[in-house]
Amino acid sequence: MPTKNRFAELHDEIAAWRRDLHENPEILFETHRTSGIVAEKLQEFGLDEVVTGIGRTGVVGVIKGKATGSGKVIGLRADMDALPIHEQTGLDYASKTPGAMHACGHDGHTAMLLGAAKYLAETRNFDGTVVVIFQPAEEGGGGGREMCEDGLMDRWGIQEVYGMHNWPGMPLGSFAIRPGAFFAATDQFDITFEGRGGHAAKPHDTVDTTVMAAQAVLALQTIASRNADPIDQVVVSVTSFETSSKAFNVIPQKVQIKGTVRTMSKEMRDLAETRIKEICAGIGATFGGTADVTYYRGYPVMVNAEAQTEFAADVAKSISGQCEEAPLVMGGEDFAFLAEERPGAYILVGNGEDGAMVHHPEYNFNDEAIPAGCSWWAEVVEKRMPAL
Ligand SMILES: [Zn+2]
Ligand SMILES: [Zn+2]
Repeated sequence: MPTKNRFAELHDEIAAWRRDLHENPEILFETHRTSGIVAEKLQEFGLDEVVTGIGRTGVVGVIKGKATGSGKVIGLRADMDALPIHEQTGLDYASKTPGAMHACGHDGHTAMLLGAAKYLAETRNFDGTVVVIFQPAEEGGGGGREMCEDGLMDRWGIQEVYGMHNWPGMPLGSFAIRPGAFFAATDQFDITFEGRGGHAAKPHDTVDTTVMAAQAVLALQTIASRNADPIDQVVVSVTSFETSSKAFNVIPQKVQIKGTVRTMSKEMRDLAETRIKEICAGIGATFGGTADVTYYRGYPVMVNAEAQTEFAADVAKSISGQCEEAPLVMGGEDFAFLAEERPGAYILVGNGEDGAMVHHPEYNFNDEAIPAGCSWWAEVVEKRMPAL
């Protein structure tokens, strides 16, 4: 099946919503205007229930099918937040807010799920219940986690969840997905080595923290090269190295190093955290100082469930005639929290082969992907909960 005819009719309207959102980007949990528009439109479409304030500025809408006897409830999730990037697209609907931009296409995601909600509320050609989920703060704020903590899954009895992201570089309206681990767990570490500062000409009177931290930068690379199974993925990057003194002739009392860890399994994540703590404590002790390690767990690994992924790929094939196997992504994705609570599938839809990558100041969501994206949402519902 190609895209649904109804989305050809709604295409301009959905694109206009998208451009309005694009012009008015909001960051993290500050999606007040966006959430307001989403809630207003869902009310206007005649949803059975619209609730705001889930996960601070998240919005949830409920659409019951012509029948609900199947007892099935599925969640469809879009993200609403923009990035702290200064837009350089030169578009006539470019961001009106300096330093904020929809550089990840969440304007497109929100508009497409609104379009799907409009269609589903009009037709209700399914047996079950759809819960549309609009989350804030996907870009590092954990809006998905906060919605889950507010009881999203239990309150609406959601049994499985679906998500979608546009992907520059993939042919327009094409799809790609992979089962199992898909997006990486994204963690951070902050390590302070403390020794005894002093005169750089008298190192024997000091406990040199720069030597400790330099050893640590190199030793942390052995997590990937010596501790991890070579078949598994792990990235440990030290990205900041700061001494407490900036002078030429002072051995600093403290050195702080920071960085990020990306992993694709719970086991590897645990291993990386454990080894970072052990290596730094060992180096501190070896050189007569101390290491204070703080390890912050960010987004968990985003895991696509087997059955839902196979189904999602079948739906994609019915729309575009193909669905590629997507590569692993070492970036993080907040949908991981939803997929941890319920089996789910997260799919990529092609934004076209030309144009900038997401998180670039010249990136723009491609409105021509709207019919494919909306059709996928609608078909997920109609095929997963077919009307009798
Ligand atoms: Zn992003
Ligand atoms: Zn994104």
